[in-house]
Formats: sequence, C-alpha cells, structure tokens
Amino acid sequence: MDCIFCKIIQGQIPCQKLYEDEHVISFLDIYPAGPGHSLVLPKTHFDNLLEAESEVLGQIMQACQTVAKTLQAVLKADGFNIFLNNGQAAGQIIHHLHYHILPRFANDDLHIKLPSHKYQPGEMEQIQKDVSSDMVSPDKEQILSDLSKISPNQKLNCTQAFTLAQQYKISKKELGELLDQQQIKLRNCQFGCF
Ligand SMILES: [Zn+2]
Repeated sequence: MDCIFCKIIQGQIPCQKLYEDEHVISFLDIYPAGPGHSLVLPKTHFDNLLEAESEVLGQIMQACQTVAKTLQAVLKADGFNIFLNNGQAAGQIIHHLHYHILPRFANDDLHIKLPSHKYQPGEMEQIQKDVSSDMVSPDKEQILSDLSKISPNQKLNCTQAFTLAQQYKISKKELGELLDQQQIKLRNCQFGCF
C-alpha cells in the first residue's frame, strides 16, 4: 500500500518519534502549525475514523492523552487542541487515520475560529430527530452483528426471542424492530408476544 504513514511505521521513512507502543505511534508533524504539533496514529492502517475498530480508538485516545500531557509539560504549554480531519472535505490529506495534537500558548496568536450561524426555525429539531432515530449504539451494533448470523429463513419461536431480549437487555419491542431489520421472522404466536 502506498501510504506514507505506513512507511513511517515500517521505518522506511524517518520521523521524529515521540511515543510508540504495540498499537500506536506518535511523531512530530513536519509542517507544524506551532511548536510540538504532533500526530498520533494506529500502526494498523485504517483510512479514517469510521473504519477503525472501537478497541483501536481506545488505544489511540489513551496515547493522545499521554503525548498531550508530556508535550504540555515539556514545552510549558498552557493547553492543547486535539483534532482529526476525516475525509477530503474536512482537510484530510493523508488517508491513514490520525489525530493532531497542537500545544497552545496563552499568547500564541493562533486563531482556530469557526463561524457561528443560526438555524432556520425547525431545522435544528429536524436534524436532531433524523440523526437520533438513525443512531446505532455500540451495543446495538453488537446485537445486529449477532442477529446477522441468524439466517432470515430461520424462524424463531417466542421463547427463543424472549431469551435473546433478556440476553441483550433490551425490550421486546426493541428486539422486534431489530428482528424486522434483519428480516428474521418469528413463528406465529397466538399470544401476540411480539
Ligand atoms: Zn497507512
């Protein structure tokens, strides 16, 4: 793969390394926005944040904390920004997931300034409604992944469905919706359990 960060990780391209463990590496950005501007990235290649496994994200964030804490102490910084550009539209240039850590100083004259707009009436509520109804928690993601192993043709009976709902600690209604999503049918139940 022609990824400059993978080449750095493999030692084919040199870097000013700050931190390394089994899963994560951190080095100084060669085009810094300020002194100590660093990158933190997983050793495994993921194009972006959405592709990374949750376990990896935990490892990266822990490394971010360690690197940021040390940078702040050593450079006597007053704070730091941590940010990630995800996708070309967001300014991602190297398509290997990486966080930036930028040490900040009280008078560094660096302004990360976002515009402040106003929503049209109802627009904010609409976005909230659309997004929250589509949100899938990691727990639900796990359930869906488990359910996807059940073949759509395989019909469950009520007892099996109850057991699943208990196992996943979700309501009958929620399980019913998930089963619908996976097109898993329940055997006809005369008691209307689901
Ligand atoms: Zn890479």
